[in-house]
Order: sequence, then structure tokens, then C-alpha cells
Amino acid sequence: MLKIILYLSISFSTLVGFSQITYPIDTLEIGGKSVVFFANKSWEYLELSNKKLLFSSETFANAQKKYKWKDKWDTLSPNMKGNDLMAMKDTVSIPLLDSVHSKFVMPHAGIITSTYKQRGRRFHYGTDVDVTTGDTLKSCFDGVVRYAEHSTGGYGKLIVIRHYNGLETYYAHLDKLMVKSNQEVKAGDVIGLGGNTGRSTGSHLHFEMRYFGNALNPQKVIDFANEKLISDTLEMHNNLFHYKAPYVYHPPAKRLASSSGKKYHKIRSGDSLFALALRNKTTVKAICRLNGISASKVLRIGENIRIK
Ligand SMILES: [Zn+2]
Repeated sequence: MLKIILYLSISFSTLVGFSQITYPIDTLEIGGKSVVFFANKSWEYLELSNKKLLFSSETFANAQKKYKWKDKWDTLSPNMKGNDLMAMKDTVSIPLLDSVHSKFVMPHAGIITSTYKQRGRRFHYGTDVDVTTGDTLKSCFDGVVRYAEHSTGGYGKLIVIRHYNGLETYYAHLDKLMVKSNQEVKAGDVIGLGGNTGRSTGSHLHFEMRYFGNALNPQKVIDFANEKLISDTLEMHNNLFHYKAPYVYHPPAKRLASSSGKKYHKIRSGDSLFALALRNKTTVKAICRLNGISASKVLRIGENIRIK
């Protein structure tokens, strides 16, 4: 429930003919209250307590206190920073639905084209669902839109909705945004149209689920094939965020050999160190040094000898 205590539209823009665009440009704390300023020079007080995460779970309340999770309401930046859920030592049961916010709706029914996983050097934090540009996308739970902008990062046109169960859902690469930040939405409300904006090849919905800024696998929450929640309760624990473990990149062996200039040879019948040195424009001495062997070593067939 978004309750605006006071809405004052100081419409300089209307008077002097400035831009009518109403996106938020800054949020300031004034006298203990949050004030949002819009591009058209209007502003409003926001009663943020109404947008805070609503939980019926006592274990959650204890965990938030224990780990000092911050739930900053930022309409200007998609990513919420400063909460590391890898530090969680226990499991917190999160009810996804309650008697007031009781509905779940699929964001878009379609084929999954990519999953939450390591993709090369990058971690892919969401589930990709095939869409045709212009397909309608829906909010999957009740909530309030926190961010709805053409983001500067790879997301393209992005909507972030904070839900009453504490999860935030991200809908990226959209063709059209149909909601604004601070707008209340219900599960099933159309929020935008699918597209191909940002770092995207081919129209698709990049869908993320984040808890205090930490991305978890949407397929651990939603049964995409049967278009329903896997469970009404999500067991939150640090295993859900394994991507935060240090990632070691293992380049393919071939690339390693060429980039480092190393060269190996597998000994065949008739090979000798002298012949190998001659053929590779090096010396027997150099090969011996590289392999820690003596020139009189008997070469075995199938043995790998480093040449360079
Ligand atoms: Zn994606």
C-alpha cells in the first residue's frame, strides 16, 4: 500500500514550459523524512515504512536484526548494495504469500532459453524466457515498483518490483515500460512489453529474483514448466548464493599453450632429443633444462616432453 502523506506539485514546469517528464532524479532525507524530487521539479514526501518489506515471519525479523540487512528504497539505481547473504549461518523461512498478498502469476509463459549459471567469465543472475517484442509482461506478486528506467548497464529498459515477501523481481531488456517507480502493482498487472534493449541478442525477458540485492535462482522459486510456485515458503540460506564464491577461470588448454608460448611433444617411435631440438629450432640443452632431464635420458613412447 503506497501511502503518500503529502503530494505537492510545484509546477514550475507547467508555468514556464519546462519538460513534463516526471522521472525521479534524487531522494533526500529531510527532517527524518524521505523526499523524492522529480525531473519536472515536483517533489513528494514518501512514507517509506509502507514500502518496507512486510514479513509475518519472526525468524526473518531476527535475521534482519542479526545480520543488519538494509532495505534502502532507491528509485535511481537498480541494484541494492551492502547486504551479503553469504554471511547467513542459519536458514530463514520466508512465506511467499500471505492472506492479503495471496496471488502468484507467471511473469511470462514461454520457453526458458538460458538459466542462472556461470556463463564464461560472467555469472548470469537470472532466467531468460523467450518473448516476441511486444509481448505483455506481468508482475508475479503484489508489490511496489522501485525502479523503472532505461538503465545504463546491460539490462536495457528495466523494471524492479519490491514484493511484500521481501523478494525483488527484475524484468530486463523490455521494449516498453508501463509503470513508474513508487507505483503499487498487483500480481498479474501488466508492467511492460518484452523486447531486446540493453546487452541482449534477440528479444527475451531476463528475469531475476533478488533478496536484499542477492540474486537467487528463479527456478528454485518458480516451477516454470507448470507455471506455479514450487512452494509457498522459501527456505533462505547462504547456499542459494554460491556464485559469490571466488571464481577461478580455467581457459581451454589450447589457449593456454598458445598464449604462454609453451609447446609439448608426445614421444613417438624413433624420436631423439637431438632430432626434436633440430626440428623445433632449439637445443638439446634447452629441452633438458625445461624438463629437468639429462641428455642421456631414454625417451619412452607416449611420454610428453616440453619443447618450448
Ligand atoms: Zn539473461
